[in-house]
Amino acid sequence: MVSALSHPSTDLDAVIFDYNGVIGLQPTTPMWSRLAELAGWHIDDLTHFQTAFWSVREPYDSGEFDDTDFWTAVLGRRPEPALLTRLRAVDTAMWTRTDHRVVALLHQARRADLPMVLLSNAPHPVGDALDASAWRGLMTDALYSARLGMNKPHPDAYRNALAATGVHDPGRVLFIDDRPDNCEAAAQLGLRTLHYTGSPADIEKHLDLRGGRVASSSS
Ligand SMILES: [Mg+2]
Repeated sequence: MVSALSHPSTDLDAVIFDYNGVIGLQPTTPMWSRLAELAGWHIDDLTHFQTAFWSVREPYDSGEFDDTDFWTAVLGRRPEPALLTRLRAVDTAMWTRTDHRVVALLHQARRADLPMVLLSNAPHPVGDALDASAWRGLMTDALYSARLGMNKPHPDAYRNALAATGVHDPGRVLFIDDRPDNCEAAAQLGLRTLHYTGSPADIEKHLDLRGGRVASSSS
C-alpha cells in the first residue's frame, strides 16, 4: 500500500508505463531486415515478412504460443533448434533498446518517490530481457503479457497493473502508452491517460517533475 504522503504529490500517486514506443525505441528498418533475412525472406519482401510476423504476434505476446509455435507459424515450417535460438535472440534485441531521454525521466520520477509500474505486451524472452535491464530497478513492478496470460487492451491487464501500484483509486494513476486503443481501454477503467507520441516533454509535463512535485491532468 502506497501512502499519498510518501512522495510530494497531492494529485498523482503512481504511473503505469507501456514499454515499446514509450521507454523503448521502435526497431529500425535494418533490424527488421536482419530478422527477415534470418527467417529466410528476401530483403525486398520486408512488408510480407512483417505481415507474417504481426499476424501471429498476439498469441505469442499473451503466452498462448511459445517460441517454437510463434516461429513455426511465421516461417510456415518448424525451425531447427539453432535457428530458433538465433531468431529469438535477434527478435528480442530489436525490442530492448531504450530512449535515454525517457529513462532520464524515470530516474527523476524515482527520486520523487513516484511508484512506477511497467505494463508491456511482450513475449517471455522480451520480458526476461527487460527484467535484466539497468532501468528495471527504477520500477516498483513490471507486468508482461506473456506472464499475465493476456494482452492490453484486456481490462484485467490494467487491473493487475493498478494493483501493482498499490494505489486503489485509478483516478490518481496515470497510464502512458503509444497506442490509442490501449489508452482508451485504460480510460474506461478510470485511469488517467497520456497517449504518447514520442515527445518526452509530454511525460515531463504530466508528471511536473521540474517543479519538484508531481501533478497531472486528465487527457
Ligand atoms: Mg507501445
